[in-house]
Amino acid sequence: MEISRLGIFEIKNLLLKREVSCTELVRAYIERAKRLNPVLNCFITISEESALIEAKKTDDLITKRRDNIRPLEGLPVAIKDIFVTQNIRTTCGSKILENFIPPFDATIVRRLKDAGAIIFGKLNMDEFAMGSSNENSYFGPVRNPFDLSRSPGGSSGGSAAAVAAGLTPASIGTDTGGSIRQPAAFCGIIGMKPSYGRVSRYGMIAFASSLDQAGPMCRSVRDCAILLESIAGNDPKDSTTMSTPVPRYTDWTVGDPSEIRVGILRPEVYEGINPEVFLAYRGVIEFFERSGVPVTYIELPHIKYAVAVYYIIATSEASSNLARYDGVKYGLRAKEYKNLKDMYLKTRLEGFGSEVKRRIILGTFALSSGYYDAFFKKASQVRRLIANDFYRSFSKVNTIIMPVTPDVAFKLGEKISDPLSMYLSDIFTIPVNLAGLPSISMPAGKNKDGLPIGIQFIGKPFDEHVLINVAAFYEKESNCMDILNEVNL
Ligand code: GLN
Repeated sequence: MEISRLGIFEIKNLLLKREVSCTELVRAYIERAKRLNPVLNCFITISEESALIEAKKTDDLITKRRDNIRPLEGLPVAIKDIFVTQNIRTTCGSKILENFIPPFDATIVRRLKDAGAIIFGKLNMDEFAMGSSNENSYFGPVRNPFDLSRSPGGSSGGSAAAVAAGLTPASIGTDTGGSIRQPAAFCGIIGMKPSYGRVSRYGMIAFASSLDQAGPMCRSVRDCAILLESIAGNDPKDSTTMSTPVPRYTDWTVGDPSEIRVGILRPEVYEGINPEVFLAYRGVIEFFERSGVPVTYIELPHIKYAVAVYYIIATSEASSNLARYDGVKYGLRAKEYKNLKDMYLKTRLEGFGSEVKRRIILGTFALSSGYYDAFFKKASQVRRLIANDFYRSFSKVNTIIMPVTPDVAFKLGEKISDPLSMYLSDIFTIPVNLAGLPSISMPAGKNKDGLPIGIQFIGKPFDEHVLINVAAFYEKESNCMDILNEVNL
């Protein structure tokens, strides 16, 4: 069976028509993951035993009752290793959690399971989701399926590469400043960051709590809608989730152009970006114009401050969130130490990688007394201005189109010793997190070397259904997902 090109929808059909059993499917994915992991390094953990037990249960269930099949019944799926999974190791890409076996499931894990999915693996990522290349993982970098010498992006690089290469039909990633959308763009797949408050973060290891969101990474807009429908909604265990009803996202995959009003920024904003990326972006605008969709200029005067604001807010929150890794409650503890303080020190020294340490130091500094007003408070004020710019624009349009990244996937090793240039590559994704908005990243063609280029559609808070409509129309009319046919692994 050729599974590498299947998405959620195709798998569901195969299972319902009984052309394949769930056990066969899970076995096939595990076999493929094992065969290709030495090349791509997507998986940190493959949970073969528990997945096969669940698959057997699903097969019994499907045989017993043909109707009343749950939305993700029998779907094998691998997720980013940032979501805690009961009895399955969860590392968050860090040495400090190398042997951590959580006692409970994250809400999204629970919801995937309740919808019938079978989790068969945990995917590689930058340590604590800090990074844009996957090179900050304790478990080594992931390789881009379009060019093995290049980065798949990050921090959800394992998820993006695994979906693109058909090692999992779909995945769930997280996005604090672009970590779903940027790797999706680099690997030619679809990635959606939902609105802040749309998806529960209970059991999702915290990086920057005012920015973190979980969302789908997949091969079609329909799959994105199916997954989002399963994981979204209020969770009493996460007080930041909203009780706004969850629309039937799958009803919005028709792709009706008459509902779309596009906003774009003036070309000057994009001075200095890769010309091929700019051309692809122009191509998408022209596509909407040709389709009769109104396209208007909008102004986001404060987004130029977004990267600076983000690296104060995200590092401050990270320095506080990561205080819990102290060698006492869980995770690594240094072997030899003189006293309690020495134990904390050695544990964190040995357990964290250099990027994580850099962020903790930056964040601790930004929050320190005497500097708080100059850094954290000022950054929070500018954050508000950035959000207001977006809100103002949404009185005129219902989706803003922007490139996802200023460049295509870079070579492994190219940026890792220059953190500032790495940080600046998130210029178009970070403003969206600062404003708490939903955004979907879609393929928009490729450069002359065949590397994917991404485009993002940004919406108002809780307008995920609007974005699904835009994305579905664009997907249908542009055949943008054909790019995945070029992955041959
Ligand atoms: N690349 C950004 C960072 O390093 C965003 C990461 C993320 O979204 N998790 O912080």
